Amino acid sequence: MCIFCKIIKGEIPSKKLYEDDDVLAILDISQATKGHTLIMPKKHYENLLEIPSDELRRVMIVAQMVAKKINEVYKPAGINLLNNCGEVAGQSVMHFHTHIIPRYTSSDLKLGFENHMDQYDLDEIQKELKL
Ligand code: 5GP
Ligand code: ZN
Repeated sequence: MCIFCKIIKGEIPSKKLYEDDDVLAILDISQATKGHTLIMPKKHYENLLEIPSDELRRVMIVAQMVAKKINEVYKPAGINLLNNCGEVAGQSVMHFHTHIIPRYTSSDLKLGFENHMDQYDLDEIQKELKL
């Protein structure tokens, strides 16, 4: 059983911020910044590609509730909502979850995007990916 399933079952303690029949929000043990929270479905789905859309919707609604509460109480300068999907993308617990990370300064979390617009043809990518 995965570590988050054990937390959901109460076999491992956690600092719960919110719980309903389908969703659990807990403080991340590592606290990348003050208030860093994880929101997860109670059912085990490996990642963003596996979770059914109705459960994803429930998780995201709770993520917004948590973000609003953090915003009200700690008044951060900003908030990141982050999901790592796959090991290469930084996923270390293979039970879908999203991070809510309050930002107090622009340098308290390292998340940089490099600009590679010179390497790619946006028209071609649009053609390949359009839904
Ligand atoms: P990922 O890297 O998969 O996106 O995020 C997993 C997160 O789970 C990490 O930020 C890590 O700190 C957190 N984490 C791992 N084990 C535990 C635990 O036992 N309790 C809590 N509250 N968080 C955990
Ligand atoms: Zn699990």
